[in-house]
Amino acid sequence: MSAAAAAAGATAATTHQSHHDNHFRSFAETPSQKYFSLAPKTLPKPYKHLFSNTRKIAVTAASSKNPLKDVVSDDHSFASYFDDDDKPREECGVVGIYGDPEASRLCYLALHSLQHRGQEGAGIVAVQDNVLQTITGVGLVADVFNESNLSQLPGDMAIGHVRYSTAGSSMLNNVQPFVASYKFGSVGVAHNGNFVNYLALRAELEEDGAIFKTSSDTEVVLHLIARSKKKLFLLRILEACEKLQGAYSMVFSTQDKLVAVRDPYGFRPLVMGKRKNGAIVFASETCALDLIEAKYEREVLPGEILVVDKDQGVQSFSLVPKPEPKSCIFEHIYFAQPNSVVFGRSVYESRCAFGEILATVAPVDCDVVIAVPDSGVVSALGYAKKAGVPFQQGLIRSHYVGRTFIEPSQKIRDFGVKLKLSPVRAVLEGKRVVVVDDSIVRGTTSSKIVRLLKEAGAKEVHMRIASPPIIASCYYGVDTPNSEELISNRMNVEEIRKFIGSDSLAFLPLDSLNKLLGSDSTKYCYACFSGKYPVQPKDKVKKDDGLSGNMGT
Ligand code: SF4
Repeated sequence: MSAAAAAAGATAATTHQSHHDNHFRSFAETPSQKYFSLAPKTLPKPYKHLFSNTRKIAVTAASSKNPLKDVVSDDHSFASYFDDDDKPREECGVVGIYGDPEASRLCYLALHSLQHRGQEGAGIVAVQDNVLQTITGVGLVADVFNESNLSQLPGDMAIGHVRYSTAGSSMLNNVQPFVASYKFGSVGVAHNGNFVNYLALRAELEEDGAIFKTSSDTEVVLHLIARSKKKLFLLRILEACEKLQGAYSMVFSTQDKLVAVRDPYGFRPLVMGKRKNGAIVFASETCALDLIEAKYEREVLPGEILVVDKDQGVQSFSLVPKPEPKSCIFEHIYFAQPNSVVFGRSVYESRCAFGEILATVAPVDCDVVIAVPDSGVVSALGYAKKAGVPFQQGLIRSHYVGRTFIEPSQKIRDFGVKLKLSPVRAVLEGKRVVVVDDSIVRGTTSSKIVRLLKEAGAKEVHMRIASPPIIASCYYGVDTPNSEELISNRMNVEEIRKFIGSDSLAFLPLDSLNKLLGSDSTKYCYACFSGKYPVQPKDKVKKDDGLSGNMGT
């Protein structure tokens, strides 16, 4: 960088500092004490248009002025009833890699390990010679990428995304990362979370002439960055984040920088790791770091911006002087992989403890403990250990049925649960069974499971749920039904027990959960159990969203 450019950058940062005072404190472990400075201005370059040679991939390319533009429409729908397993849905997983010649391949592997966070779309943006190249597609990571198209993503920096969304013909438009060009260059973004003021921001931007290509809230970030009058990319992001409300764990790639940002509440997870060759990795969960042999360094803190580039290494900035974390407890209950460490806690240990608590507060005479696989398994192990009763595999999950594209008629939809879960008669026949699941949303799947177990010969079925009752929708990046569809919002525990047909039913008590988390308990969001939202969902309040539910006992 020229001395003049560095001086210009330093001047701009200093000027901004006067406006943001404490916002720009560097963290102790930050290698560089200098303020961020931007490389000399680079002219925007068009993205290379990549075309797929595989049937299933819907390839996207971005124009130099706008975010995504479809060149191929999606050719299948995931609106399969097989996915209707009555669980909240995580919306996304993100990855960012800086400083590895195999960045896009590592990104691809890391996305594999985050596949549980989203199965409906995947994408990677790689950067080489200041050019951002992108491939996005509908389907699983393995459907979207292959050796041939990965080889078209060279460079030592990449960001990636896996996405869950509702099905629909416009789905391809919404597959991330999104890429755009603006006055000072190009930028790609991958986002996990949900902006609760998205509609207001979008309306404001549209009023001002902005044209949107997607129905995703993430696109507003690109517009805000492009419209910012600040010259430094960091300041543009900062300005955008000041307007955003809600949940965001995001990674950005510019032509020469990788940037990770987490909202001040830290709703969704984001961690940083380092590979042996010094490459920096950001990922939604530590399981992604493990797979690509990156050592876990630390969380990206709530309200933190981390900027990685060649000149300054890793620099840390803060969005707010005093973040008040409200991390999503559901990551520990359901979303994250058990081998991940999320918000500084082992997910496996959390789930085990949930099961142990259930065995303590809601014991029952039984012969066997089984799980609703896969997410109920660790809690069931905890329950069995505490109760001193054997854990056995009483339900087998088919891992392949979700990949079918056959749309069965309504008449045979009830086969859905049977196709996914098969009871093991040898384990169940004549037994008093405790079955542990992670949560109940609508209650429809639970009733089918109880019926399956009884049809397979279980004498008694005692349902234990390793989370408190869900009474309210999530607005922070998790797809939950309207509150009126949530069974715990409409019924008390005894009514739910009758509805699902079990011999007994118990949920993890919220106060036991708080006790388990100890001094960290105030750092978590429990809005779906309490209806008390840390950030009021302005735009997305659903019709008649009265929280009249009974938390039960
Ligand atoms: S409302 Fe529930 S699912 Fe949403 S962030 Fe809070 S704890 Fe997580």
